[in-house]
Amino acid sequence: MESTLRRTWAEIDLDALAYNYRALRQRVGADVKFLGVVKADAYGHGAVQVSRTLQELGADYLAVSSIDEAAELRSGGITMPILILGHTPGEQVGRLIDLHITQAVTCQAKALEYSREAVRHGGELTVHIKVDTGMSRLGYLVDEKHFDTGTADICAACDLPGLRAEGIFTHFSVSDEPDADSRAYTEKQLALFRRVIAAVEEKRGQRFAIRHCANSGGVACYPETYMDMVRPGILLYGCGALAEGLGLRPVMTLKTTVSTIKTYEPGTDISYGRLFTTPRVTRMGVVPYGYADGFFRCLSDRCALMTAAGAAPQRGRICMDMCMIDLTDLPSVQVGDEVEIFGRNQRVDVLADAAGTIPYELTCAVSRRVPRIYYKNGQETEKELLLRF
Ligand SMILES: *Cc1c(COP(=O)(O)O)cnc(C)c1O
Repeated sequence: MESTLRRTWAEIDLDALAYNYRALRQRVGADVKFLGVVKADAYGHGAVQVSRTLQELGADYLAVSSIDEAAELRSGGITMPILILGHTPGEQVGRLIDLHITQAVTCQAKALEYSREAVRHGGELTVHIKVDTGMSRLGYLVDEKHFDTGTADICAACDLPGLRAEGIFTHFSVSDEPDADSRAYTEKQLALFRRVIAAVEEKRGQRFAIRHCANSGGVACYPETYMDMVRPGILLYGCGALAEGLGLRPVMTLKTTVSTIKTYEPGTDISYGRLFTTPRVTRMGVVPYGYADGFFRCLSDRCALMTAAGAAPQRGRICMDMCMIDLTDLPSVQVGDEVEIFGRNQRVDVLADAAGTIPYELTCAVSRRVPRIYYKNGQETEKELLLRF
């Protein structure tokens, strides 16, 4: 469905995605498999379009968080292997097998349930064993006193009927943080992961085909974590300090337009809560970008949006559907002009820092009434609006 409005839209630069993929591929080398993380609609960029591009570029694997996200990719024509990082209910195991989707196994109860359901379905479920080396979220516990039981359970899971243990993986909690303590913690996680793999492979007399742990932090800062496959997300989208350091390009540029300009006398209170009062004669623009589009209300009066003439400070409370920007010092900006919220000219990191969050949260927040416009080879190739008509 096409949007008829020129209101607020996200330009998704698939050429930038291809550039980032090739740069990362070159960094990790041709012998290491490449899994692109496309969960949460590819961090708000459009999972099907991003996955198609990665598939064309020769990526090896994709990861999503749920079976619904995986099924969306299959119906979008994605044929490459897909790993579900989160939990799938036992009754969906038949569907996983039919759709050729790989499932993470995070504990023994899940392993037994998946095995039972796979046998009942009369098929084989491909699984990757998830090891908890210090993230303390999902995964088999293997720290000191759990090492022997944890590795024994993993061996038992790998030999269950109906399961094919293709891979084993873990996840780092601070690999993207530069301080020495974070480095020591990441190295400890990696060492424990290696010990678990060695113990399980020795006991089974068989090695895992795909051992993986490198998220974006690992890819950018720890070459020793690459193993058989890397698993970056945010680096692919060109967001965050690590992406900037590697010269990667932002894939999403979020844009809006100036819909109205009004001039106020000094002492005029702007928007809900009267947060901002004009100190002088003020030329104020209204842009149709509010918190229902994905803006963060906590950024009210604390950020700027980019016009062709420079940065326009955002003034007053951010509303549901719009916000105000100060154009007093930017007299050339007129009604109808484009305004960049983040992307090529203002990195999303700037807004994320001001909001006290990470860029992931801002790209994921771009809501479904914001059309995504896809560009490939510099040309607009597709426009998608995720509303139900
Ligand atoms: C989200 C996720 C990733 C990707 O993380 P980035 O920081 O975006 O690279 C990798 N692995 C797992 C298990 C994840 O949940």
